[in-house]
Amino acid sequence: MAKVKVQTAWLDSCAGCHMSMLDLDEALIGLAEKLEFGSSPITDIKHFSPCDLGIIEGSISNEHDEEVAKDLRANCKILLALGDCACFGGINTMRNLFSDQDILSRYYATESTSKGGAVPTSPELPKLTKVRPLNQVIKVDCYVPGCPPKAGAILYALTELLEGRIPVLPGEIMRFD
Ligand code: SF4
Repeated sequence: MAKVKVQTAWLDSCAGCHMSMLDLDEALIGLAEKLEFGSSPITDIKHFSPCDLGIIEGSISNEHDEEVAKDLRANCKILLALGDCACFGGINTMRNLFSDQDILSRYYATESTSKGGAVPTSPELPKLTKVRPLNQVIKVDCYVPGCPPKAGAILYALTELLEGRIPVLPGEIMRFD
């Protein structure tokens, strides 16, 4: 049987949701027989190609995040939002309380990073946007909330998807023990 092709991305995030996927431990061995990973921070393959399942961690907080989210959405049949940042915006939305200029000054002109305190002006620096959950920019098919989501919740969702069902997580599986 052909393996289900999965691609993942992290946008404005801490990588904790991908770490939680690795916390699947021995369940990963069973999943590896059914899934194959394309582009992902796990494989370090940089470009998306057509796939069955896209998984995104993190909120959309700048123009580059938006491009990546739309690119993966265009390449996958089902898109799963992984973690509170992707599902709701998460802790990153606190940034929406401040102006872009204040945020950039804080990023680049702190005591530890400053060389004269200038904010870089390179055109390669992605333009900040309001911090948004995925579903304000792209269509999302299923959600696995949590910060980070429990490995068991991720396993439940992947198992449901492999069975051809869109996962709806029961409440008890989302509580951190
Ligand atoms: Fe990190 Fe939590 Fe956001 Fe996941 S939901 S990227 S663990 S802050």
